[in-house]
Amino acid sequence: MLYVREHEKDEAAGGRRPHGSMVTELVPREVRRPMALNLMLMGPPGAGKGTQARRLARGFRLPHIATGDILREAVEAGSPLGRAAAAIMDAGRLVGDDIMIGIVRQRLERPDAATGFVLDGFPRTVPQAEALDAMLDRRNPLVVIDIAVDDADIVRRLSKRRVCTACGTIVGAAEANPPAVCPDCGGGLVQRRDDRESVVLERLAVYREQTAPLIDYYRNRPTFRSVDGSPGPDEVAAAVADAAHGRSVRRTA
Ligand code: ADP
Ligand code: ZN
Repeated sequence: MLYVREHEKDEAAGGRRPHGSMVTELVPREVRRPMALNLMLMGPPGAGKGTQARRLARGFRLPHIATGDILREAVEAGSPLGRAAAAIMDAGRLVGDDIMIGIVRQRLERPDAATGFVLDGFPRTVPQAEALDAMLDRRNPLVVIDIAVDDADIVRRLSKRRVCTACGTIVGAAEANPPAVCPDCGGGLVQRRDDRESVVLERLAVYREQTAPLIDYYRNRPTFRSVDGSPGPDEVAAAVADAAHGRSVRRTA
């Protein structure tokens, strides 16, 4: 596999220094985008993907592309997509692959995603993962970070989880006494409709059946990394940042 050193990246960037990105690129020189950091977080519902993805996006100044958020905004707006998705989401099932692939393709074409992104909630099925690979054909390799958490933990976390209606911050999942208002902005907190226990069990079943196979899909890539999601959010964030910084990438043969 082609290995590109940092000074070669600088040349390819026309002398500009890539800011911060330590990722060694594994695509042919002529199609490289020197600064791009393409991250994808995966894991069961309640693993902390959303929290960690927001932090990573802020830290690396990359767009946070969360398909669940995109769908919830569509439901809120009452758009055709939202009307189609609402009942599916309330049942804890997955929205169709074609719809999701179309949404992500459009989003990745926007200019802010050219230098990288943090994908959260996509792909969730093998066909989605295959479509994503095709979309990223001419970009840097996808860095996949799997956040692993036990089932028992998931149900406990999701039943306590609350989301800020103003800024989207996720709170409560890991705390004994969840706060009454958003610690970031003071906004009101609500429970997501699909965090009710009956729906959580269905989401978990759907995860096992349709999303967990992605671990095997990605496992043998040099850019795959698994992180223990059971400690508190700060500890997980440190491990996730470590993975994102590309140590798993540079370890490659
Ligand atoms: P979580 O990861 O906590 O389960 P998300 O906010 O990522 O929740 O997603 C909420 C819901 O939105 C999912 O249960 C599913 O119905 C729908 N959804 C989000 N992303 C996808 C996707 N890539 N494919 C199919 N459905 C999706
Ligand atoms: Zn808030």
